[in-house]
Amino acid sequence: MTNDVIAEITRNERRRKGVNENKILRQFDEVQSILSYPFSPREVLHEIETAMPSIREEARRIGTPNALQDIILSKMDEIAPRPPNAPNPRGKLHLDSTKIEHWKHRERLEAWRRGERIAPITVDMALTQKCSFSCEYCYAGLQFNKASPEEWATYQNLLDDFTTIGHASGEGVRGVSLVSDGESTENPYFRDFVLYGKSKGIDMAVGTNGLKLNPDLELIRAFTYARFNISAGEREAYKQVMGVSDKQWEGALESIRESIRIKRENNLETTIGLQMVLLPEYADQVIPLALLGRDLKADYTVIKHCSDDEKGSLGVDYSWYKTPLALTLLKTAEALSIDDYSVQAKWTKMMTGRDRRYSKCFGTPLMLQMSGTCIVAPCGSFFGKDYSRYHIGNYSRERFKDIWASDKYWEVIGHLGSDKFNPQKMCATLCLQDKVNEVVYGWVENGVPLRDTDRAHVPQHINFI
Ligand code: SF4
Repeated sequence: MTNDVIAEITRNERRRKGVNENKILRQFDEVQSILSYPFSPREVLHEIETAMPSIREEARRIGTPNALQDIILSKMDEIAPRPPNAPNPRGKLHLDSTKIEHWKHRERLEAWRRGERIAPITVDMALTQKCSFSCEYCYAGLQFNKASPEEWATYQNLLDDFTTIGHASGEGVRGVSLVSDGESTENPYFRDFVLYGKSKGIDMAVGTNGLKLNPDLELIRAFTYARFNISAGEREAYKQVMGVSDKQWEGALESIRESIRIKRENNLETTIGLQMVLLPEYADQVIPLALLGRDLKADYTVIKHCSDDEKGSLGVDYSWYKTPLALTLLKTAEALSIDDYSVQAKWTKMMTGRDRRYSKCFGTPLMLQMSGTCIVAPCGSFFGKDYSRYHIGNYSRERFKDIWASDKYWEVIGHLGSDKFNPQKMCATLCLQDKVNEVVYGWVENGVPLRDTDRAHVPQHINFI
């Protein structure tokens, strides 16, 4: 049997059984003595269960679409507060926020509001759609496009164009994350792309399964961050959720270990983290993964919700993320943070589920996505064939600087920010641009002032907004 077939059988079995509550309750007891502050998961669970009916009632009374998540988030801090002397998982790096308000990006944001043609601050892209893994939750897998690696000159031109576009000289793309809809390490030019981008003054980052990363000092040093996709902390569950064999689990783990060794031994600034996409039936993997990240000496482990397409093809039950067990589990995982290791849940995205706070999308000119097929579309939701009217161009056929300067680019992007388009009804669940959208929509449509940010303090990963 192939890995895909084995994975499908075991996934179906997991789905049928649902959340393994008993195992999670046992894990609560097992980790209690090593949590970084006095925190009894079982007691917290009981308190949340008791409080939940009144939380739901209050949300019903308020009646706004986001009332429930807002109340849950504030109550969680009351029920399970972090003592001031305990390690703050978000002290150094806040993965559930946006940096768009920071003063470093203010001039560009204001230029956009004045109607000037700005370069995206961040581009999220892939160098291929190929991947040797078959993750259960992979949204790219729903789009059925072919991989199309190009010649080196195409990628070189792209990076050159990133630095020359913009509303003013020196106002090109500031950060490129190789995540998007494919495993970029499969592209033979992956390493050249990262090093050339860095040499052009662009911050570079990667999200990878790690198997073909081949880390060495020069590569790891070139990254602002390297994030490993690892959605389970135990071998068998990893093989199921990521659709791979023992060999791939071992290879991916070795790549993570080696990257961390290189970073630590050379005192590099590169952030190295693990990311779990949390499907409810894999909830018993949250604590094992948080512990694995701690053992490996990663900088962080982040736990995020699973995005679904607008038709709900993956069938994710978003209400599960708001259950007392899920809330307690994520709080417990965060309490496994220590001074130089942070476990973070992306609370706001998980709580928001399908309910966006904005009815126009302003984020894509600031944070653009591109497909591993070289299609330039404003965001990952629109890479598939069904959305060809949002495909602005293909950088393997024409220069990106011309695509960016075209009327079509600004028409498509303008359409998303117009009354003719409503992300609440027409988009997949929460997207990469979600936090940027929340802030920019509030600023433009509701007059919410941008927060003043500290000029003396530039947050980590500033160019990945
Ligand atoms: S809100 Fe919709 S259109 Fe805008 S970036 Fe997100 S998924 Fe794309």
